Amino acid sequence: MADCTHDCSSCGSNCSSRKETSFIKPLHKKAKVKKVIAVASGKGGVGKSLVTSLLAVRAAARGYRVALLDADITGPSIPKMFGVHSHATGDDKGIQPVKTKSGIQMISMNALLEHEDDPVVWRGSLIAGAAVQFWTDVVWDNVDIMFIDMPPGTGDVPLSVYQSIPLSGMVVVTTPQDLVEMIVKKAVNMAGMMNVPVLGLAENMSYFVCPDCGKEHMIFGTSKAERLGEAYHIPATARIPIDPHIASLADAGKIEEADTDPLAEIFAQIEKAREIQFHK
Ligand code: ADP
Repeated sequence: MADCTHDCSSCGSNCSSRKETSFIKPLHKKAKVKKVIAVASGKGGVGKSLVTSLLAVRAAARGYRVALLDADITGPSIPKMFGVHSHATGDDKGIQPVKTKSGIQMISMNALLEHEDDPVVWRGSLIAGAAVQFWTDVVWDNVDIMFIDMPPGTGDVPLSVYQSIPLSGMVVVTTPQDLVEMIVKKAVNMAGMMNVPVLGLAENMSYFVCPDCGKEHMIFGTSKAERLGEAYHIPATARIPIDPHIASLADAGKIEEADTDPLAEIFAQIEKAREIQFHK
């Protein structure tokens, strides 16, 4: 084009000299991470942090070097589920992640606040900035699989995180309620825009097994996991029951003792997922 300014970020033309602008941010120069899996949900409270934690526990139990990046800055629940109350240390050379009992590296807003009950009352740009700094400023030590507990929804904050961190794949967490199809569709579309595969759909609180008669009850409606998985070409689905035992382990900071079998198929997809590629 005769009037080309060579600034592709402000031009919509699809000409032959177009350079794709990448917003991907580099890792800390001493950090190394092979795979990054984002765990996302349409709204809060569906069990996204629980699924993120269970996937990390499963990966660690299988001998992988695992990291958990809690990008849910205003609702950080990962450290509590692991019973981690220590503080991340750091200086101008980088932040050292905290470690769980089984050796999972972790960073969360709660590991930086003086009192973990302090609320984070920040504007969106600051919240997104903090989540991205967890990627760029933490000295992640030789990580095979990093799991990111994403901020819920598809607003500015998750969008900045998606644009800044290279991902191997995404896992979507839902409950079997009516609007779930719209949530899955949005997540799949968003992942498609970022060129990231959706590896799994975890339907949490899918059923409840009566402890007296052993019958399965669908408290939040019939399961949609399998149908949606097929409709949106998601290679693995999981159904996680409402489980008072898991809730009590999460509350007691003992999630590393939980049974992770329901997530086996999704985890198998994570094992096959591509490693991230970016230039430092
Ligand atoms: P989110 O990250 O989506 O906001 P959480 O993972 O923090 O949601 O879960 C919210 C609460 O529900 C937590 O107290 C968690 O222990 C509980 N919970 C989540 N899934 C289950 C389940 N399948 N059975 C029992 N309790 C659950």
